[in-house]
Amino acid sequence: MSGHRTALIWDPSVTGYFFRPDHPFNPKRLELTVSLIEAMGLAGGPDTPIVAPRQATDAELLRVHSAEYVEAVKRFSRPGADTSDAFRYGLGTDDTPVFPGMHEMTALVCGGTIQAAEMVMAGEVTRAFNICGGLHHAHRGRGSGFCVYSDLAAAIAWIREAHGSRVMYIDYDAHHGDGVQGIFYGDPEVLTLSIHESGRYLFPGTGFVDELGAGEGYGYSLNLPLEAFTEDGSWLAIQERLIAEVAEAFRPDVIVLQNGCDGHLNDPLTHLRASTRLYEETVRQVCGLADRLCGGRVVATGGGGYAVWTVVPRAWTLAWAALSGQHAPDAIPREWLERWQGESPELLPERLRDAQEGWPAVPRRAEIEATNRRTFESLRRQAYPLLRGYGLGF
Ligand SMILES: [Zn+2]
Repeated sequence: MSGHRTALIWDPSVTGYFFRPDHPFNPKRLELTVSLIEAMGLAGGPDTPIVAPRQATDAELLRVHSAEYVEAVKRFSRPGADTSDAFRYGLGTDDTPVFPGMHEMTALVCGGTIQAAEMVMAGEVTRAFNICGGLHHAHRGRGSGFCVYSDLAAAIAWIREAHGSRVMYIDYDAHHGDGVQGIFYGDPEVLTLSIHESGRYLFPGTGFVDELGAGEGYGYSLNLPLEAFTEDGSWLAIQERLIAEVAEAFRPDVIVLQNGCDGHLNDPLTHLRASTRLYEETVRQVCGLADRLCGGRVVATGGGGYAVWTVVPRAWTLAWAALSGQHAPDAIPREWLERWQGESPELLPERLRDAQEGWPAVPRRAEIEATNRRTFESLRRQAYPLLRGYGLGF
């Protein structure tokens, strides 16, 4: 152990955030992940408590969502509700359908991330992981991309209001964290940094280098769009420098980390080529910075991840182990494989860390890596001079 107490925010009831049986945002992935974490003995001890989430209050939701939107979600939430105007709020779509109880369920997801922030800011734990959180596409007045309310923004807004702390938000989900960016676009005390597959190829089509913030917040919104087919090596090398340089300049009091794992090679919705090692390594990078700059404080969430059986449980078990300063051995326990293999449509991998030897080669690797380096240099040139403290830390 690294001496950091770390809470896992979890209760089986959060699997009620469920759109429909054939929807890719499948809560089974949460159940599988927690069962793997438990099978490996990585949670539930005195330094790794498992804490059930509570529902966010209306006041907590209204810090980041419009009253009209929250009222609409409540109305659509009732069984048999008239949802004919749902499209005005980004809901009732194929991506983000309306479901009975959606207000209560999403408020529970939000409450979990707020609770993670409360525990971290009170010093009860150094880090916390709300595995069902990470709804980074929800906007102030509309839902989008499987996200109804923004648990991330609600937690950040609570931190701002209760503690006045400076928050660095890091999002390495394969999709741009557009909702969180938009809600804090004008706020220089909340720095949002999203690393994702370029919006030229992927939903939501935003997240370019020139989206730098507005007004007082100009320079506090940063985006690194990666080329399709980017692999661990290029991603990690750039990311490590980027987050370190930005964090040194910004000097956060706490880091909020969205751990969507849909940038994995086997994810069905995206075109990045990460291995499960990237999730372990990224959390290590971020925790190292947090230890150095902000008392270790990290509020982490899940996010995207659509290879429900073969990727998400492994990626997030590695992320959790890194977050809580524990070593996760590579072998997945036999009893876990035996428990789930019968239900899984695919053969379950037996190791947490992907052995990448068998992976197909990327024909344009050198070109992709060069383009990513150019994008990073362009971001440095445009964004760094705008950051307060620039030049002090490095
Ligand atoms: Zn995603």
